[in-house]
Amino acid sequence: MSDQAAVSLEGIHKFFGNFHALRGIDLTIAKGEVCVAIGPSGSGKSTLLRCINQIEVVSAGRVRICGTLQGYDERNGRLHELSPRAIDRQRRLTGMVFQRFNLFPHMTALGNVIEGPVQVKRIPKATARSHGRDLLARVGLADLADRYPNQLSGGQQQRVAIARALAMEPEVMLFDEPTSALDPELVGEVLDVIKDLAASGMTMILVTHEIGFAREVGDHLVFMDQGTIVEEGRPKQMLEAPKSTRTQAFL
Ligand code: ADP
Ligand code: MG
Repeated sequence: MSDQAAVSLEGIHKFFGNFHALRGIDLTIAKGEVCVAIGPSGSGKSTLLRCINQIEVVSAGRVRICGTLQGYDERNGRLHELSPRAIDRQRRLTGMVFQRFNLFPHMTALGNVIEGPVQVKRIPKATARSHGRDLLARVGLADLADRYPNQLSGGQQQRVAIARALAMEPEVMLFDEPTSALDPELVGEVLDVIKDLAASGMTMILVTHEIGFAREVGDHLVFMDQGTIVEEGRPKQMLEAPKSTRTQAFL
């Protein structure tokens, strides 16, 4: 069963020193599913994404992406003793988009998109450029491929960041509050791109405060509080009739 899942989390705990940030997270996300995670600030949403992407190493528990046990070295049978290159290969199963887009300022939009494919995946530059242009077209930026980040709006920069993540061909996309740093009038264009991506069948976990988006596009809604999943379910049902008083209070 968990082999079929795009993401399978079993008993995830994360400590920062004595602070218990994730307290036993179990979560299964099917291929093609759009999972939206909500919850108050400090509830562990970013930490969870960072554990899935191996920016952070879990203190306990198992993270599987499309059946691959993250951090596990098949050659020596040990967890968390992977070579940096092997970790990098596993990390590429997920693509991460952050609140702050963090584009390389000295590179054009296209340059940002092809950097990973060329430098990390060693894809020939001409091939990467052609694919990169397709990806920029897909996020509505075909005409702006040669612009530098400071010549783009926040919404355009975030769409470049999404194209950059897609260029590495991840199995799962992770979005950590991708519209929180944007001016309100730019939120819609980024959500539309994420919506198109969802419609194309991309598996994703999206941390957001956009409840309307969760209701409309989400297949699976997760409410986190104090390092636990308090409640999860179908977005419409859960938003209309939350079972937990903690979810009710948050909404
Ligand atoms: P959220 O994204 O839901 O706002 P976070 O995952 O960022 O929450 O943080 C959860 C808790 O873990 C917070 O109390 C935060 O201060 C703490 N935390 C996150 N990262 C670190 C870290 N690197 N070191 C120490 N504490 C951290
Ligand atoms: Mg966060």
